[in-house]
Amino acid sequence: MDFEPSEEQQIFRKTLRDFVRDQIAPVAREWEQAGRYPTEIVEGMKALGLFGLTVPEAYGGLAVDLVSYTIAFEEIARGWMGIAGILGSHSLSCWMLAHYGTEAQRRRWLPDLATGRLRTGIALTEPGAGSDLQAITTRAVRDGDAYVLTGTKMWITNARHADPLPVLCVTDPTATPRYRGLSVLMVEAGTPGFTVGRDLGKLGYKGTESCEVSFEGARVPAANLLGGTEGHGFKQVVSALEIGRLNIAGRSIGVAQAACDAALRYSRERHAFGQPIGEFQAVQLKLADMATQIQAARLLAWWAAARKDRGERTDTETAMAKLFASEVALRATLDSMRIHGGYGYSTEFEVERLYRDAPLMAIGEGTNDILRVLIARALARDA
Ligand SMILES: Cc1cc2nc3c(=O)[nH]c(=O)nc-3n(C[C@H](O)[C@H](O)[C@H](O)COP(=O)(O)OP(=O)(O)OC[C@H]3O[C@@H](n4cnc5c(N)ncnc54)[C@H](O)[C@@H]3O)c2cc1C
Repeated sequence: MDFEPSEEQQIFRKTLRDFVRDQIAPVAREWEQAGRYPTEIVEGMKALGLFGLTVPEAYGGLAVDLVSYTIAFEEIARGWMGIAGILGSHSLSCWMLAHYGTEAQRRRWLPDLATGRLRTGIALTEPGAGSDLQAITTRAVRDGDAYVLTGTKMWITNARHADPLPVLCVTDPTATPRYRGLSVLMVEAGTPGFTVGRDLGKLGYKGTESCEVSFEGARVPAANLLGGTEGHGFKQVVSALEIGRLNIAGRSIGVAQAACDAALRYSRERHAFGQPIGEFQAVQLKLADMATQIQAARLLAWWAAARKDRGERTDTETAMAKLFASEVALRATLDSMRIHGGYGYSTEFEVERLYRDAPLMAIGEGTNDILRVLIARALARDA
């Protein structure tokens, strides 16, 4: 058992850290508040090959191990969590395509997705169904050599940049259990009847768009059915969500670490009653709890990632990592704000952005209560 990243993982982390220090941190606050799309940062991520994190080398990707993958999200989210969102659903869908796509589908899309020339996301959630994915109603009806797709998806991150966009849909409404009737269609941008509608207003997670997306009789070639066989969509997306949970765990750790770093810095600079506030035990206790919980979250995430790298079952482990790390991020950002006093509430300090970004991690890739249910079921199963 070795709790330290390998030399290769440390070099990778250093590359990311330098990139974040030079290209993300200096602009994060201003661009986030202006609601500006971070085009230049995206170009920098392309140059580093980050869009190919989960793409096999045979298709031009980096195919990093999942511990490195988790580290990448931690480092980026330390600078600006919204940027991590640009890579999040992209990388989980690349993983899904690499694992479940046909060879023709992999050759068609993965090389361009690896460079970032093409980008992607994932469309699961609907206005009436999120946690209960088997209740989705977006319907695909086979018509000759195409599917006719009708329905609405909500909260789709990267929707304006996704091409193709994997869409979970119902191909057999009579199937029991319902998940056997679900499939994933790769919908290409520009398909008539496929529209990216309004951008949804958000508390945080700015820099990347989250949109309502509609399909009104969109004809999607049957060749775009992920894996080529109907009825496998639920399994495909559920296993891709394990990769997503690792990236959310990484993002949570990054946000929490940034909050802790900011609190530590501030506690040395700010004086009250004739001494730095970091000399007060009440402040020290918060800093100690933050640092301890962050390191525990980091090790839990690396452990889950390393197990997945070894090909072991990790539905419970990735759920634990995401659940724990996101709760740590919620606590750390609030405690950092408390240590900052009134300045913590100011838009001139970064802690208010961290505080606004943290709650999403308790919602996306399975709400934390849904993950608790999954973990409890696994405990009962294995007892
Ligand atoms: C900024 C943002 C970006 C997003 N990006 C994407 C994206 O790119 N693609 C995508 O497909 N989706 C995306 N989502 C959607 C996200 O995945 C869902 O919001 C999430 O899965 C929860 O679904 P819901 O919002 O429908 O909540 P609901 O499922 O309606 O849940 C509401 C509440 O009920 C609780 N609940 C529901 N069922 C149970 C149960 N069985 N036991 C206990 N509690 C339960 C939940 O925990 C929650 O507290 C995004 C959301 C946001 C806010």
